[in-house]
Amino acid sequence: MGEEDDSNAIVRPVETWERGRDFLVIQTPEDDAELRRKEIHRREAMAAELNYADETAGISKTYDREGRYNCGRCNKAYEGKCLVVVQSDGRTAIKVDLEAGSCRYWERICAGDAEAWRLYASIGLAAYAIAANGVGWGCHRCPWARRAYEPDDMGRSLYCTKGNARVDSMGCCAINGATAVPIDEDGNPI
Ligand code: SF4
Ligand code: SF4
Repeated sequence: MGEEDDSNAIVRPVETWERGRDFLVIQTPEDDAELRRKEIHRREAMAAELNYADETAGISKTYDREGRYNCGRCNKAYEGKCLVVVQSDGRTAIKVDLEAGSCRYWERICAGDAEAWRLYASIGLAAYAIAANGVGWGCHRCPWARRAYEPDDMGRSLYCTKGNARVDSMGCCAINGATAVPIDEDGNPI
């Protein structure tokens, strides 16, 4: 203990969010610049921890303007397989569902963005799943989203009851709660 500890005199706060009986965060109607500043930080947390993205948050090329995030429109899909997500043996690429399959690593198709057979992410780590709706994902299909009391400056019209911030209806993240079809340990529909 000494003078050097003075640099730690200011510590980060830990917020406690009001939640309902379902444990989802409760949206409040109050809105001001201070709340929007906090929401920017909360979206940054979702981007860092859950791969959330929209036009101005997270990694923009992982934002799907169509809000589908389907494997068939992902830069990491190759000949019906995924270049990064592997089966339970840890080395064989999963066969992806091109219309409704998706994961947290979805990325827009871009000729200048070279890929490789990385084959290092398990299905669990990637949160790979196939949407039961047969179309795809996105916040607008997520049961954790509510209509925001009012859009924010960037037009985010939904409120995320997991991340406590307004989100883009076409955004998405790794914990999207849309119903998925059952898959086996290698990613194939059961
Ligand atoms: S599993 Fe993920 S990374 Fe692989 S093709 Fe589908 S969305 Fe892209
Ligand atoms: S609404 Fe759903 S998909 Fe969108 S950020 Fe929240 S939990 Fe993720």
